[in-house]
Amino acid sequence: MAINNEMERNYGETEGYGQPLVTSSFTSEDENEYSLRPKTLSEYIGQKKAKENLDVFIQAAKLRGEPLDHVLLYGPPGLGKTTLAGIIANEMGVNIRITSGPAMEKPGDLVALLTNLAENDILFVDEIHRMNRTIEEILYPAMEDYAVDIIIGKGPSANSIRLTLPRFTLIGATTRAGSLSAPLRDRFGVNLRLELYSPEELCFIVKRSAGILDVPIEESGAMEIARRSRGTPRIANRMLRRVRDFAQVRAGGVITQKVASEALTALEVDDLGLDNIDRRMLRAIIEFYNGGPVGLDTLAATINEDTVTLEDMYEPYLLQQGFLTRTPRGRCVTQRAYDHLHIPFEGQPQQSLF
Ligand code: ADP
Repeated sequence: MAINNEMERNYGETEGYGQPLVTSSFTSEDENEYSLRPKTLSEYIGQKKAKENLDVFIQAAKLRGEPLDHVLLYGPPGLGKTTLAGIIANEMGVNIRITSGPAMEKPGDLVALLTNLAENDILFVDEIHRMNRTIEEILYPAMEDYAVDIIIGKGPSANSIRLTLPRFTLIGATTRAGSLSAPLRDRFGVNLRLELYSPEELCFIVKRSAGILDVPIEESGAMEIARRSRGTPRIANRMLRRVRDFAQVRAGGVITQKVASEALTALEVDDLGLDNIDRRMLRAIIEFYNGGPVGLDTLAATINEDTVTLEDMYEPYLLQQGFLTRTPRGRCVTQRAYDHLHIPFEGQPQQSLF
């Protein structure tokens, strides 16, 4: 898909074993991700609330013969925002144009995209919170009045002309709805928050992907991958591909619970799905900050990782699993984190283990 290059933004690498399992963008392993993407709402697993609402909005828009209201999708990377945008286009029977906030460098880039849309088309802007403000201002009249104002000429002789656009739907995706400016946020009629998936939902996704990739898998093998994919379909699909290699070499090609477990342990993903960086993060809070609170920037500097990576990709799962809490003064670990890392709780700062 054309989106690959535009969206290239790799996050922290886990050590060894080629590509990291936890990244926000496509890696070479995801080349055929396109084929794994569900095409219809009924194939899209989980996210019941978002799906039910969307179904009503899509049907209503179709009955009225109007474009769907502008949609903002938010949630951590890999949960299916791009996939959902594609499904909306498919269900509406319209074309979708895909770009991302950082890929647009000047206002003209967005104007060109907008003026090339056809009636009812969808413009999907990934990472919309990273769009430059001058470009963003073009979106306001485009979203509200289906028009763009272009200034021609310079100085006193400059003239503003208004171009009318076809009626379109903007679908914005963001990992951080809080970073969107209020005027932009207010112009979305539909706001959908995607949640981390349950192991049962991920198990369905793994079995579905295994079917498409033609990989034999046992129920317990699929569940093992699901439990360790930190609530994220993209990670589940990546793990499936890596476990497939282990299965081929060591277990006659079939993914059993045993081979999945051994493969993921070899990839340094523990039985709750935490990888090296998760563990370093928790351990650093315990060892250097006595369990917290510690600010995220300080923590990121301590373990030599990027703050955005920690906040967007690591923290949501650690919060959801109850390893971490957020306080106004920073992040704190919970007793569960001490127990998981086998560090005695209520102790004084421990000796560094890394
Ligand atoms: P995002 O845009 O939120 O980063 P994507 O839409 O690119 O995430 O999804 C990542 C991968 O996960 C895709 O390959 C897709 O096949 C899979 N996926 C995401 N959501 C679902 C779902 N609900 N059901 C099945 N597969 C999904």
